[in-house]
Amino acid sequence: MHLQQLEVSGFKSFARKTIFEFPSRITAIVGPNGSGKSNVKEAIQWVLGEQSMKSLRGRRGEDLIWNGNVSTPRMGKASVALTFDNNDKQIPIEFEMVTFGRKIFRDGLNEYFLNGSSVRFKDIVELCAKIGLGESRHNIIGQGEVDRILLAGPKERKMMFEEALG
Ligand code: ATP
Repeated sequence: MHLQQLEVSGFKSFARKTIFEFPSRITAIVGPNGSGKSNVKEAIQWVLGEQSMKSLRGRRGEDLIWNGNVSTPRMGKASVALTFDNNDKQIPIEFEMVTFGRKIFRDGLNEYFLNGSSVRFKDIVELCAKIGLGESRHNIIGQGEVDRILLAGPKERKMMFEEALG
């Protein structure tokens, strides 16, 4: 199960459709301050079912949608699609590629998709739970936390690892 591609469109600072390809097992996202690195991380969280607006640094759903600037008008919806290579069938569905999709409209309506077919939020959560993804399953180490891990004493560091291992 290899994370292969992320597509964002109208999501936060990504007004136009943008495709990130992740060809190898380790990928780093680098860029100047404010260029949208955290927005990429939040797009991944969001498409996998994140419900907490606080974790997405917003107050309401609309904050996730491109808000417009002088050259590009604001959008009516945001969408994200995250694709995994499923040749090893770790995701228990009969597809070699699995794409999780989510859309949000300005009125707050959310839609979820699996390989392009409309599904319920519950379906996404249940599938993620089976494969160790989603809220409190995968781990995102935020900015500054690497320092915290490196500077921690052995006891505190052990607690962090245990927390990550569930
Ligand atoms: P840093 O390195 O400083 O943490 P970063 O590269 O992680 O920054 P982000 O925090 O992901 O950058 O991106 C912030 C940018 O995203 C800001 O310029 C902000 O205005 C823009 N942004 C966030 N939400 C929206 C939105 N709904 N519409 C347009 N732009 C947005």
